[in-house]
Amino acid sequence: MNVPNSAEIIKQNNLCIGCGVCAGLCPTQGLVMEFNLYGEYNPVRRNSDCFENCGLCFQVCPFSDKEENEDSLAKIIFGNIEGIKHRPETGYYLDSYVGYSKVCDHRANGASGGVATWLLETLLAKRIIDYVICVTPHQEPEKLFRFAVFDTFEPIRRSARSAYYPVEMSEVVRYIIENEGRYAISGLPCFIKGLRLAARKNKKLRDRIRITIGLVCGQMKSKHYTSYLAFLAGVRGPLLEVNFRGKPLGVPANNYFFQCTDQENNQGKLFCRDGIDKVWNNRWFTPRACSFCDDVFAELADVVLMDAWLPEYIVDWKGTNLIIVRVPLLRQAIESGIEEGQLEGKRISIDRIIQSQLGVLNVKRNKLAYRLYLAKQKGAVVPTKREAPSGEANFFTRKEIELKDKMQELSRELFLQCTDGGERNLKTFSDKMDRLVTELENWARFGRIVRLPAREIRKVAREIGRVRKIGRI
Ligand SMILES: Cc1cc2nc3c(=O)[nH]c(=O)nc-3n(C[C@H](O)[C@H](O)[C@H](O)COP(=O)(O)OP(=O)(O)OC[C@H]3O[C@@H](n4cnc5c(N)ncnc54)[C@H](O)[C@@H]3O)c2cc1C
Ligand code: SF4
Ligand code: SF4
Ligand code: SF4
Repeated sequence: MNVPNSAEIIKQNNLCIGCGVCAGLCPTQGLVMEFNLYGEYNPVRRNSDCFENCGLCFQVCPFSDKEENEDSLAKIIFGNIEGIKHRPETGYYLDSYVGYSKVCDHRANGASGGVATWLLETLLAKRIIDYVICVTPHQEPEKLFRFAVFDTFEPIRRSARSAYYPVEMSEVVRYIIENEGRYAISGLPCFIKGLRLAARKNKKLRDRIRITIGLVCGQMKSKHYTSYLAFLAGVRGPLLEVNFRGKPLGVPANNYFFQCTDQENNQGKLFCRDGIDKVWNNRWFTPRACSFCDDVFAELADVVLMDAWLPEYIVDWKGTNLIIVRVPLLRQAIESGIEEGQLEGKRISIDRIIQSQLGVLNVKRNKLAYRLYLAKQKGAVVPTKREAPSGEANFFTRKEIELKDKMQELSRELFLQCTDGGERNLKTFSDKMDRLVTELENWARFGRIVRLPAREIRKVAREIGRVRKIGRI
């Protein structure tokens, strides 16, 4: 049948983030989510029985090139809510808060302040929903995390913290369609977009998914990211357990640690500053789709949670959340949580929230135009984004984007080449990747020097202006 299906889109454009919405919705169950060689999920065709002119998988894909974008979809969902406001960076917002959960060990076990876990439990306790769907540890070496459906607190608590690991939603999407009930589901911005598109096509999803909880997202990582961090942490066996967000006592919240345990019970630990930061910031093991994503604040989710990356909160190692709410029901839940003493929280301006994510906004918004331009120059197909492709970035920004793109691509291929022979080869991987990091650092240093005179001139000009002004007074 000559209709576009998502498996073909991936092969052609390499833009799949592996959300699994297409596979969950396919009426013939013709798509199955599998890991590809690079440790990323992709849908794979398991039969060729497409319905005539179906194209459903294409229509619900967050990366297929459709007319709708986060702005137009969000306008339909939130645009008529009384008191709703909009900022281009965040999308719609009703209110914004800073805080953490004071219930049990939500905060201690949470990625940030444990508000996601608190909210999921509260929605269940107040009978606003019947089921929670969230990502949970799986203890299977080839699939360490997965989406699961829960209706009690205990497994929701065990699911706390962020999984920087591929997960897919095909099974839970099918579960919702097959099982009546009211569901809350947490997910990354692109996953929530896929769900919203799917809900437009499927009444059961539309009726049953009552609450969507988004997480701010800078990027996803492939399965190989975890393998590489385990290697750096000195653990060699097949992994059983991973914690990406360990909280060391008294250390700033942004220097969290990665901890893993293999099947032989060997354990390893690695701090952000000892290697994670380099891999994360230089986009090693980041799926290509993330390079063409402009949604930072999960603009289609009813509420979005993030780390409080602001100087006054980073210093608190226990972790703090920032929260944007978009629907009155969840604003009420947060306000009640504060009043009842379950949450430590207060309002914070949307400007401060934007400020906390300037780094992510810079990558996903400001630098997107040049990434799109670059991809087009290379003849690649890219989705239409809210930002138009443009080659007008300054020389040093272009260099940075090009080198990070190169690291992203090279890390995928090189890891495969280097993993056959064990440790010695992963050392080769590190050495080759580090050369690109050094090149990037050298360009950045050079950029700072070149810009120095201009900065100094501006400083002197400002000083002269100030002296003249004083003279006039
Ligand atoms: C891939 C990824 C990238 C992120 N990037 C940023 C960022 O750049 N800046 C920022 O401020 N915050 C980012 N976050 C969000 C942040 O890490 C926290 O998840 C958020 O602040 C909520 O913290 P919490 O303590 O309230 O959550 P917790 O109480 O610890 O609960 C976390 C909840 O998130 C769910 N979850 C975990 N991993 C995933 C996943 N991969 N997909 C869907 N659900 C998941 C869990 O099931 C759990 O319910 C990212 C999260 C992820 C997973
Ligand atoms: S039947 Fe429809 S949803 Fe399934 S693969 Fe074919 S086109 Fe896609
Ligand atoms: S819907 Fe999700 S899994 Fe399917 S092709 Fe699109 S991004 Fe990939
Ligand atoms: S950066 Fe965008 S595409 Fe990548 S995982 Fe996050 S929300 Fe999805």
